[in-house]
Amino acid sequence: MPNIGKLKSKSNKAEKIIFIDRDGVINEDPIGDYVKQWRDFHFIDGALEALRRLRHANFAIVVISNQAGIGDGIFTKEALKETTEYMLKELKKGGVEIRGIYYCLHGKEENCECRKPKTGLLEQAAREIKFKPKETFFIGDKVSDVQAGERFGLRTLFVLTGHGEKDRMRLNDAEYPERIFPSLKEAVDYILNPKS
Ligand SMILES: [Mg+2]
Ligand SMILES: [Zn+2]
Repeated sequence: MPNIGKLKSKSNKAEKIIFIDRDGVINEDPIGDYVKQWRDFHFIDGALEALRRLRHANFAIVVISNQAGIGDGIFTKEALKETTEYMLKELKKGGVEIRGIYYCLHGKEENCECRKPKTGLLEQAAREIKFKPKETFFIGDKVSDVQAGERFGLRTLFVLTGHGEKDRMRLNDAEYPERIFPSLKEAVDYILNPKS
């Protein structure tokens, strides 16, 4: 399972897509450690409900996630597959379907083209899903999420869960998110109700 990619059939119409980082946005990021097995996966308060609201508003949810623990030998592809299956099962129970998942499995020092802040994962997604970057959000908790999103021409939102509180200090003027929110919940409030 090098990559899960798109989970549903191809369409030529531009879709209303939202890109979301996984660890630290959807689930708790065990900072300084990894989500090594499915038991380490815990939804952040309010995240599942926020994803459900996005689906109700017809957003197709695409996960964009670095998982260097594979390349660096911390956990196995099989363990990541189980974690992914667990996440999808719990989301499904909560009425949330995911359109696609793109993981970078390379180690931190491999200098691959897909590890964020590089845009390889977004390029992979763009080959399989049609969307308009300028109208598409990317929500992340790290500077590298903002950098990848901006390099790809997306609208970036930053959340203070996960690494956000710490990484906020490292945001710079060149690559600054459109908005900063306490968590995915408030980011989704903004997306669904931009004027409020
Ligand atoms: Mg993250
Ligand atoms: Zn990679």
